[in-house]
Amino acid sequence: MDNLQLADILFPDVTASPEDMEKRFPERSLPEGACVTRIGPSPTGFVHLGNLYNALIGERIAHQSGGVFYLRIEDTDNKREVEGAVETVINAMNYFGVHFDEGAVSDGDNGSYGPYRQRQRKDIYHVFAKHLVQRGLAYPCFLTAEEIDALREQQTAAKENPGVYGKYAKYRDITPEETKALIAEGKEWVLRYKGVETDEYISVEDAIRGKVEMPRNNMDFVLLKSDGIPTYHFAHVIDDHLMRSTHVIRGEEWLSSLPMHVELFNALGWKQPVYCHTATLMKLEGTGKRKLSKRKDPELALSYYQQEGISPDAIWEFLLTVLNSNYEEWRIANPDADYREFPYSLSKMSISGALVDLDKLRDISKNVIGKMPAEKIREEWLAWCDEYRNDFAELIRKYPERTLAALNVGRNAAKPRKDLETWKQSCDFMSFYYDETFKVSDPMPEECDEATVKEFFAEYLSTYDHSDDSAAWFDKVKAITEKMGFAVKPKDFKKNPELYRGSIVHITNMLRIALTGHANAPDIWEVSHVLGEDIVRRRLQAFA
Ligand code: GLU
Repeated sequence: MDNLQLADILFPDVTASPEDMEKRFPERSLPEGACVTRIGPSPTGFVHLGNLYNALIGERIAHQSGGVFYLRIEDTDNKREVEGAVETVINAMNYFGVHFDEGAVSDGDNGSYGPYRQRQRKDIYHVFAKHLVQRGLAYPCFLTAEEIDALREQQTAAKENPGVYGKYAKYRDITPEETKALIAEGKEWVLRYKGVETDEYISVEDAIRGKVEMPRNNMDFVLLKSDGIPTYHFAHVIDDHLMRSTHVIRGEEWLSSLPMHVELFNALGWKQPVYCHTATLMKLEGTGKRKLSKRKDPELALSYYQQEGISPDAIWEFLLTVLNSNYEEWRIANPDADYREFPYSLSKMSISGALVDLDKLRDISKNVIGKMPAEKIREEWLAWCDEYRNDFAELIRKYPERTLAALNVGRNAAKPRKDLETWKQSCDFMSFYYDETFKVSDPMPEECDEATVKEFFAEYLSTYDHSDDSAAWFDKVKAITEKMGFAVKPKDFKKNPELYRGSIVHITNMLRIALTGHANAPDIWEVSHVLGEDIVRRRLQAFA
């Protein structure tokens, strides 16, 4: 019995050939230089920032070049699969403005290179598994988990490389008849690649890291697990070849398995895609940096950014800053350009760890929202509230015009205000614009006792005319300040505090607190006109 017969014993149902597969998934007809990229998340229900980070790179590379960006679900590890996880990935990506041209969709596939869920591609993997067996490049291995553990122990004790290879590959050279007998006994098997004993090195030109040199693979690594499902390594090579990926963008944790992938591409006679191994996400801790951890750092989960209500634009801006060293420079030169106009380049990527600094993200987010038109803020904030804060969604819908006017307060000034950081924080900040959520949080200034407060508000209301323009309004405030014995110029009060009851700062603070609940708030005249006369009078009356 030869390899051909062995292949038939192992894969009796496989009749298609590799050529059939090549025909079924032909080369894509795309313009010269167009890149085909993908993300391959596992459906664990946990979408992490690294998924988005790699997605942004893939999306940019593909769409910048007129290529294709697709979603493949890597579900070969069924232990980790969670119901609804595919929707979670798609929704999270959509929320952050990452759209796929093809790939898995919630109820199936979109595109002609599918199926896009690996478990549904079993027959495709088996065609190539059979082909490798026929060529004597793969074999069934009957080692049990216990035998492999024992082997590892023995190898470690002898200071040898652990694993199944060379003389340790017990089932590599058994005869097909023996194999047949073991299968007939019902023994479980995995399919292993026949590694070559060698001292050679491989060299790969990584688009981010440059030349990477590593020892060539000599392991009999697993291609198919005992349930016939492929390992990541086998699936990656077959899928990225047949789906015609030009670039594989993945985390640097995969770098160490690269020799297996190179081995398979060579064995199958296929051209390797361009590998792009991205730096691990890190955070600052103390004086050093460390890897972000799923257990310790909520910010590793993409859902964190959704729950906080970080605008997708802010995330893009932030990640592009982290991803490409020349982005900030470009942004300064092109302050109003869409980030999609930035010529993204793999060679400008850092390899020393990408720093996720949430303070920086908040800062960027403030600037991004600061530049958004009020209508867009209202729309995005409302969409977020619909998901996370129904009480505010109701208010925005009940008072659409007031909300818009409120969002415009201080925006057209020479130095626009940057009060809003995230949609979650916007609910806090904006709450004073609605009676339903308004509350006085800050105390009146220490310098003003209750009688002074009463005296001031009675005085203010007696001359208040809602139709005053901002200059006329301020003249009145100054007149009251003077009349009550407060300094109109804060520096006069500073110089001679004994001559005054306080300064105009205390007067305006009283107004801010009564109107907004906070001493730190936008322009009083503008706020008053957003709130309208009735609300203004009512809020001030409460202190008079
Ligand atoms: N399923 C792999 C992961 O989640 C994808 C790696 C790749 O993109 O090839 O890390």
